[in-house]
Amino acid sequence: MIQNPKFIILLYHKIGKYPQNAKFPGLYVAEEDFDRQIKYLKNSGYTFLTLSELKTVYDYYSGFGNTGSADRPSTTEGLQNLINGKSKYATITFDDGSKSVYSNGLKVMAANGVKGVVFMVSGLIGGLNEWDIKNGENRDEMLNIRELKEMINYGIELGAHTKTHPHLTQIDADKAFNEIAASKKELENLLGININFFAYPYGDFNEEVETLVKKAGFLGACITKTGIVKKGADFFALRRVAIRHNTDFFKFKRKIFKVKLFY
Ligand SMILES: [Zn+2]
Repeated sequence: MIQNPKFIILLYHKIGKYPQNAKFPGLYVAEEDFDRQIKYLKNSGYTFLTLSELKTVYDYYSGFGNTGSADRPSTTEGLQNLINGKSKYATITFDDGSKSVYSNGLKVMAANGVKGVVFMVSGLIGGLNEWDIKNGENRDEMLNIRELKEMINYGIELGAHTKTHPHLTQIDADKAFNEIAASKKELENLLGININFFAYPYGDFNEEVETLVKKAGFLGACITKTGIVKKGADFFALRRVAIRHNTDFFKFKRKIFKVKLFY
């Protein structure tokens, strides 16, 4: 029984080659890079989890640690399959809900038999990346309902990423709570599923915002600071490893190696 599993959460935005005039090329990862990254992790023995699965596996190991080896917590068959003989876990997350995750990313994930999590800006379903356009970025289409449903049917977990993608520490607490709580409710009502996880837009959060996310009923939230999820992690400030347009294969391997070593 391995008691110290490693959980790495990867952060992506759009899948596809970045346009030459992109203001934020770092938001793009080419399909072939994405494919190679998944294959590398699979070949290195990583099991891919959604965030809800990550929490279940993490809680299992935490309980195990607390109760001692003679007193294993009970497990379901599904959980056993995620635990037996495994110690390395990866979770693919996509912030924003770009249509490219469906049109380019899904087939790569399906071909590799892996799942992931999409953090959707709930007020822009079927619309455009309005917050980025304001910052001078190209127009990018967002996922629509049909695409979201298809991805959920495939096994993608849907998370919330506010209604309009504001800086949550820069607006009133009332407004921030509404952005957070309403994005959960909107997605839940629209799709008839539970939304358990949240990602802070721009990774912008503080203690007050964290409290609001807890109050809204989420089980956890992702930030953009680099790190892995380890023992004693704050589930409302889950660290990730950001992958960008210029994360070539060597850099990718180095990022994974370093994050396990130093975080
Ligand atoms: Zn975002």
